[in-house]
Amino acid sequence: MLFDILTIFPGFFSSPLQDGLLSKAIQKDLIQVRPINLRDFTHDRHNTVDDRPYGGGEGMVMKPEPIYEALETLRTEPPAPYVVLLSPRGRLFHQEMAHEWAGLERLLIVCGRYEGIDERVARFVDTEVSIGDYVLFGGEAAALVILEAVARLIPGVLGCETSSQRDSFSDGLLESPCYTRPPDFLGQRVPEVLLSGDHARIARWRREQSLLVTLQRRPDLLKSIELSETDREFLEMLGWSCDT
Ligand code: SAM
Repeated sequence: MLFDILTIFPGFFSSPLQDGLLSKAIQKDLIQVRPINLRDFTHDRHNTVDDRPYGGGEGMVMKPEPIYEALETLRTEPPAPYVVLLSPRGRLFHQEMAHEWAGLERLLIVCGRYEGIDERVARFVDTEVSIGDYVLFGGEAAALVILEAVARLIPGVLGCETSSQRDSFSDGLLESPCYTRPPDFLGQRVPEVLLSGDHARIARWRREQSLLVTLQRRPDLLKSIELSETDREFLEMLGWSCDT
């Protein structure tokens, strides 16, 4: 899968792309990542990408022309990209979106800076996305979040495919707690069931822990997933009711 990232700071991505599983995925040619300098699509001496806001006010706004030209140029290369504009006003990025996008051939992410991007650019993208209810300096960190979340769902990127299936949000729940050696750490013992070797018991324990931690920390998630009869009985035992 090809990730194009349109940015005024292409250097921002050099270290993340050289480390860990992202770099391995690139080496294995499972993904390609191209940070693209927006200034290459300007035509003045200073490679200007911003200007003062109409109506007055603080800061600068990203001009529409370089972004439009970049999108038009990049769209001439196949395969056609799905274009994502980063903005705190966009729809909230989540795991389901990451799953959907992991099936694309090409994602083109547009990073804003300054006070944001001229509103007229929105007509030329497929969607506007926010990574959370807070404001960053720019879209680069958000693009990296999306890149990681999507890339790890591409077959072959993670060493063990089943590990992403057990991740939080994959089945709508938070993941159950995980442990490694030593079996006793400062008096805290690893739950006995995980040492039992009984795979059916372990699977049941993990599911119950997943339900428990989701109920404790993100009960809102329980409303939007399909629960089995056994799940419901377990949750009801913990005081949960489907009407809450
Ligand atoms: N003035 C804008 C507002 O209040 O909505 C914030 C602009 S922000 C300083 C500059 C750029 O960073 C945005 O255009 C966007 O590309 C990116 N950005 C900041 N926070 C973001 C978030 N939560 N999700 C996605 N992108 C974000």
